[in-house]
Amino acid sequence: MDNNKYKSRSSKNHKNSIPDYDWLFDDNNVRQGRGENKSKFMRRLIRLNFKSILLSLFVYIFQAAPTYVTPILTAEIINIVTVSANVGMTQEALQQIIMYIIIIAICIFTNVPTTVLRWKIVSKMLRRTSAGMRSALVRKLQSLSITYHKDMQTGKVQAKFLKDMETVDAFFSCLINNILLNAISVVIYTIIAFSSDWRVALFFMVVIPVNVMLTNTFRKSIRKAYHEYRVDTEKMSARMTRMLEMFQVTKSHGIEEVEITSVNSTIEKVEGSGKKVDSTVANFGAWSYVVNHLLSIVSLAFCSILAMYDQINVGDIVLFQSMFTSISGCVSMLINSMPQISSGSEAVRSISELMHVSDVERNMGSIKVPKISGDVRFENVTYRYPNTDVDIIKNLSLDVKAGECIAVVGPSGSGKSTLINMIIGFLPPSSGEIYIDNKHFNDYNLSDYRHNISVVPQNSILFSGTIRENITYGLEKYSEEQLQKVVEMANLNEFLKDLPQGIDTNIGEHGDKLSGGQRQRITIARALIRNPRILILDEATSALDNISELHVQKAIASSVKGRTTFIVAHRLSTIRDADRIIVIEEGKCVESGTFEELMALKGKFFELKNLSELKAKEAEQALA
Ligand code: ADP
Ligand code: MG
Repeated sequence: MDNNKYKSRSSKNHKNSIPDYDWLFDDNNVRQGRGENKSKFMRRLIRLNFKSILLSLFVYIFQAAPTYVTPILTAEIINIVTVSANVGMTQEALQQIIMYIIIIAICIFTNVPTTVLRWKIVSKMLRRTSAGMRSALVRKLQSLSITYHKDMQTGKVQAKFLKDMETVDAFFSCLINNILLNAISVVIYTIIAFSSDWRVALFFMVVIPVNVMLTNTFRKSIRKAYHEYRVDTEKMSARMTRMLEMFQVTKSHGIEEVEITSVNSTIEKVEGSGKKVDSTVANFGAWSYVVNHLLSIVSLAFCSILAMYDQINVGDIVLFQSMFTSISGCVSMLINSMPQISSGSEAVRSISELMHVSDVERNMGSIKVPKISGDVRFENVTYRYPNTDVDIIKNLSLDVKAGECIAVVGPSGSGKSTLINMIIGFLPPSSGEIYIDNKHFNDYNLSDYRHNISVVPQNSILFSGTIRENITYGLEKYSEEQLQKVVEMANLNEFLKDLPQGIDTNIGEHGDKLSGGQRQRITIARALIRNPRILILDEATSALDNISELHVQKAIASSVKGRTTFIVAHRLSTIRDADRIIVIEEGKCVESGTFEELMALKGKFFELKNLSELKAKEAEQALA
C-alpha cells in the first residue's frame, strides 16, 4: 500500500506556538550505520540553532578569559620578579605588576555578566529544541494508524517518550555546554602555546593524540554496553506494563509467584547490563585520568629542562604547565563525553525508529466538510489485513441512505468490526470503493470527516476524571443545555441523581468504580454530544447483563433518530427496530432486509436468532 507517501501534515495548523522539529529525525534510509545517523542528527541540530550557537561561543570567549589571561599574566609577573631579583625592583616593574593584577581582577569580575548572558542564550535554545522534539513525537504518535498502536506495546512507547527524550536533551546540552566549549578552548590554548614557544606547542601536539588513541580503544565497548542496557530496559518496562495489565488475572489464578519470578528475570537482566555499563565507564575514566597526569609530569620535565638551558623564561614554565593542564583537561572532557554521545545516539536511533514508522494514516483528502448528511456506499469492497493471505471482507456492496438505521449481525469473526473500521477510515479497502455522500472516501480530509461520526466500542474507554470531563472529552465548547440533553438521551439521569456530586463525580481510574452499563451509557453520551451524522455502535451491549442492557437499549433507541446508525449486535433482540438488518458471513453479505422479512425468509438470520435464543436459555439454565 502506498500509505507511506502521505505523511499526515494536516496537524500543522495547530494553535500553540511549539515548533514541529520532526525533520530532525527525517531520514530516507533508516538502516544506515548508527554513527551516520548520529552525525546527521547532530548536524541538523547545529544548523537549526546556528546563530545562537555562534553567539554563545562568542560570549564564552569572554567568559573563559580568566582561564587564559591569568596564566599569561602570572607568567609575566613571575618573569618580572625573577629579573628584579637580580637587578633590583624598579618603579616601572612595580607599576606593571599592579596593572596586570588589576587586569586579572577585571577579567574575573566580567565573568558574572558573561556567564549569565551565555546561559540565557543557551537555555532558550535548549528548552525550545527540547519542546519542539517532544511535540514532534506527540504529533507522530497521533498520526499513526490504529493498527500500529494496537501492535506496539505501550511500555515501549513510554520509554521512548520519557527516557529517550531526556537522553536526547542531555545529548544536546552536552554538545553545547561540553563539546563545543571544550573544542573552542583547545583552539584558544593551542594558539597561545604556539605563540609563546613552538617547541613546547609541538610537544603538546604529540600528547593530545595519545589521549585520543586511548579513547578509541574504549569507545566501541562503551557503545555496545549502552545498547544492551537500553534494549534490556525497554524489555523490562514492557514486561512491567504487561504485569499491571494482567494483575487481575494473575491474582485470580494465584500465580503471583510465577509472575514475580518472570518479571524479576527482566529486572536482573537490566541490573547485569547496568553493571557492565558502569564498569566499562569506570575503567575508561580511570585510565584517562592516569594517562593525563603521567603526561603532565612529562610536560613539567620537558619545560624545566628548556628553562634550565635558558630556552624559555622561568615564568613560562607556569604558563605552559597551565596550558598543558587546560588542553588535556579539555581533551579528556571531550573524551569523557563520549559515553553521553553514545547513549545520546542510541536514543536518537530509538526515537528515529518511531518517527520513521510508515504506518501513518493517509490523509490527503482536501474536501472540507463542515457537515455531511450521512449516505454511505460500499462498492465491491474487499479487505485483507496486511501480512495475511485471506480476504476478511469479500467483494461487499452496500448502499445506506442518510438517516437509516442498519444492524449488522453475523457469527463472531465474520468481519463485522472490520467493516465498521472501514467506515471510520481506520482501514482503507484493499480493493473497491467507499463513497460518503456520493463523494469518494479518499477525497475527504480524514479528521474533518471523523468530526461527523461517533463510535461506541464494546469496551468503553474512560479516563480518570469526572463524568462531565469524560462526556465532553475533546470538545472545546459545549453548552450546559447540550450536556443535559445527551445525559437524558443516554438514560443517565437516574444514575447521576444518586451520586453525591452528580455529573462532577470523579469516576476513578478508567471508571473502575462504575458498572459496565453505567460506563457504556457515559460512552454513549460522549458519542451523542457531538451530534454525529453517523453513529456507530460495535457490540455496545455485548458485555452487559440483562438489566444494564435494558438501560443501554433505551439509550440507543433515543440516539438513533435523525442520523445514520450502524449497530453491530450479538444479541439479536436488540435490533428488532432497525430499518434494515445485514447478515455477514465470512466477509460476505448473505442476507438483508427488515426483521420481519428475514424471519419470514427462514434463512441464516432465522438460524442465528434461534441459535442465540437457545444459547441464552442454556446460559440461564446453567446459572439456575
Ligand atoms: P467480528 O467483529 O465479526 O467478530 P472482526 O472483523 O473483528 O470480526 O474479525 C474478522 C477476522 O479478521 C477474524 O478472523 C480476525 O481474526 C481477523 N482480524 C481482525 N483483526 C485483524 C488484524 N489486525 N490482523 C489480522 N487479522 C485480523
Ligand atoms: Mg467485532
